[in-house]
Amino acid sequence: MSTVIAEPTTAAAGQAFVPVPDEILVGGRWRRGGGPESAVLDPATGDVLQRVGQATADDVDAAARAGAAAAADPAWRDLLPHQRARHLVRIADAIEAGAARLALLQTYNTGKTLAETTALVASAAGTFRYFAAALETGDDELTSRRGNSLTMSVHEPIGVIGAIAPWNSPVASDAQKIAPALAAGNAVVLKPAEWTPLVSLALGRLIDESGLPKGLLSVLPGRGSVLGEAIVTHPGVGKVTFTGGTATGRRIAHHGAERLIPVSLELGGKSPTIVLDDADVDVAVNGVLYGIFSSTGQSCVAGSRLFVDRKIYREFVDTLARKASQLRVGPGLDPRTQVGPMVHPAHRDSVAAYVDLARAEGGRVLCGGAIPDEDRLRGGAYYPPTVIEGLGNDARACQEEIFGPVLVALPFDGEEDLVAMANDSVYGLAAGIWTGDYRRAWPLARRLAAGTVWVNTYKQFSISTPFGGVKESGLGVEKGRAGIAAYSRQKSVYLGLDTQPHPWAD
Ligand code: NAD
Repeated sequence: MSTVIAEPTTAAAGQAFVPVPDEILVGGRWRRGGGPESAVLDPATGDVLQRVGQATADDVDAAARAGAAAAADPAWRDLLPHQRARHLVRIADAIEAGAARLALLQTYNTGKTLAETTALVASAAGTFRYFAAALETGDDELTSRRGNSLTMSVHEPIGVIGAIAPWNSPVASDAQKIAPALAAGNAVVLKPAEWTPLVSLALGRLIDESGLPKGLLSVLPGRGSVLGEAIVTHPGVGKVTFTGGTATGRRIAHHGAERLIPVSLELGGKSPTIVLDDADVDVAVNGVLYGIFSSTGQSCVAGSRLFVDRKIYREFVDTLARKASQLRVGPGLDPRTQVGPMVHPAHRDSVAAYVDLARAEGGRVLCGGAIPDEDRLRGGAYYPPTVIEGLGNDARACQEEIFGPVLVALPFDGEEDLVAMANDSVYGLAAGIWTGDYRRAWPLARRLAAGTVWVNTYKQFSISTPFGGVKESGLGVEKGRAGIAAYSRQKSVYLGLDTQPHPWAD
């Protein structure tokens, strides 16, 4: 175990950081990673929480081989769906039993508020329960026959799934990949993001101790360019499921194309949030604030481009900026905090640079826009809620994903103008519409190029509802009953019913 460098902060009194054992899970065995050490930070203070030995390319090889063997072992391969489902239920139970620790770890490692990480852990347990139920109730298909046979289409596991996750919501994104992949009968090699390995290692331990056969799950922290590449290019990996940035996703898709293996990609976004002139202003203001500034804007679906009908633009944006400036910025462990620190000082600096760029492009900063210099926030990776206006939709701050608490506001004149601007983006992950009339919302929702559209709500998620992006926001969908099929191969089987020899051969 490495030394804990951070002392519990005052805010954390009674909720001190407890390091996770400094071991990685390689093909069913826990051992210290033989790669370089990475320093895992507490973004609320800038202190090093602990050091973690990263995995190596040899670990990827061992994990993929052990995964293939475990997936092919009759003890796992021959389980009936309801028997495999039992493993998922046991994992859900283990997550719930360890929920307080997982939530605290994620707050320490990502800066998110404890309320949010508690909800994310509950959703991770729910994901395992959902896929257990979907597995038990899923049916293979008897297809219509065109001859004297019974024809059917069945689903089979792919083998070893390479799962590569981002840093923003590790426990939830890990569960969204591990649960359906196991449900489909596969083994999983999970690579958490370099900045946030702790929750994934703790989750791996819970899953391992829940009785899942050894080798079915490996957790390999390390750098994307080294370890991620090693997973994606390993000949034993039969599918890659990736959540992260579009540039990385494109690179992974190239490897997938070379190897002719399926790749599913959940990528970035620059989602429009739209306020029509008949919206309930109080409801819409709070909804827009939540859509962009919760999770400190570090959400793939963050509503980061605001379009307001010019008729109500001035009053709406002024109210919004005033309320944004009143949001409470602080450590995720403080129950009063609404906006926690960003995940890492390097990421905070990239967000700050975007705001400087927006200023240089002619943007007016209505609130926020500078790294706070309050003593209580010193050392942490804080950035305040920031609202910018006066930019054209083609400005870089309106087109590129900033992935932080930065909202750009633009007025629109009529629906054609709105749809043209909202869809003028390489991304298509999500969109929001605030209106008093669902008859206006419905056709507008259908015209927006986005994988998810929320009307009079934002950032609502349901594991039963498929989620994915269009354009450069992704390829394929996660969640929903079809989520298990995404980790399966379909096989067609014909059972011939003729009892007489085939006449062709006579
Ligand atoms: P990232 O692309 O930098 O990293 C994501 C993961 O990929 C990390 O584990 C990283 O180590 C790994 N990686 C990096 N280079 C790699 C390579 N060459 N080969 C294989 N793996 C590699 O993204 P990030 O900064 O960790 O996360 C933020 C991004 O994720 C944002 O763009 C955000 O929108 C996106 N995201 C999307 C969703 C979604 O569901 N659509 C959800 C959360 C985050």
